[in-house]
Amino acid sequence: MSQQADATSTCLFCRVAAGTVPATTVYRDDTTVAFRDINPQAPTHILVIPRCHIPHAAAAAGENVWQTFMSTATQIALGENLGERGYRLVINSGPAAGQSVDHLHVHVLGGRDMRWPPG
Ligand code: 5GP
Ligand code: ZN
Repeated sequence: MSQQADATSTCLFCRVAAGTVPATTVYRDDTTVAFRDINPQAPTHILVIPRCHIPHAAAAAGENVWQTFMSTATQIALGENLGERGYRLVINSGPAAGQSVDHLHVHVLGGRDMRWPPG
């Protein structure tokens, strides 16, 4: 069995992308899926993922997934009318950053004022 097939059956976000775990999907195409976070940290909190299983951002260094992935995240933010007020795109990569689901994802957060530095 290939690594990709393996991940598709065991990885939570691979299963969301495949539709075998329910989610409130806001966008999907051949390469990318976006859905609302189950535990929102802001009035708008959407997760954008590539369909292919990449465990974390560090594993995608040099890969060509970034342009489509981040462009889609920005388009989703604009589609949620966050462009004028502002929004935050967050990628947690690895345990020190608090990554809890090992499938590359960017958080689109908006609808409230945010602090810096993040916790
Ligand atoms: P991380 O901590 O890895 O950067 O972000 C993982 C995110 O996935 C968290 O914000 C968490 O609330 C969200 N999450 C975890 N399980 C599920 C789920 O089953 N469905 C949805 N929609 N979001 C989830
Ligand atoms: Zn996965």
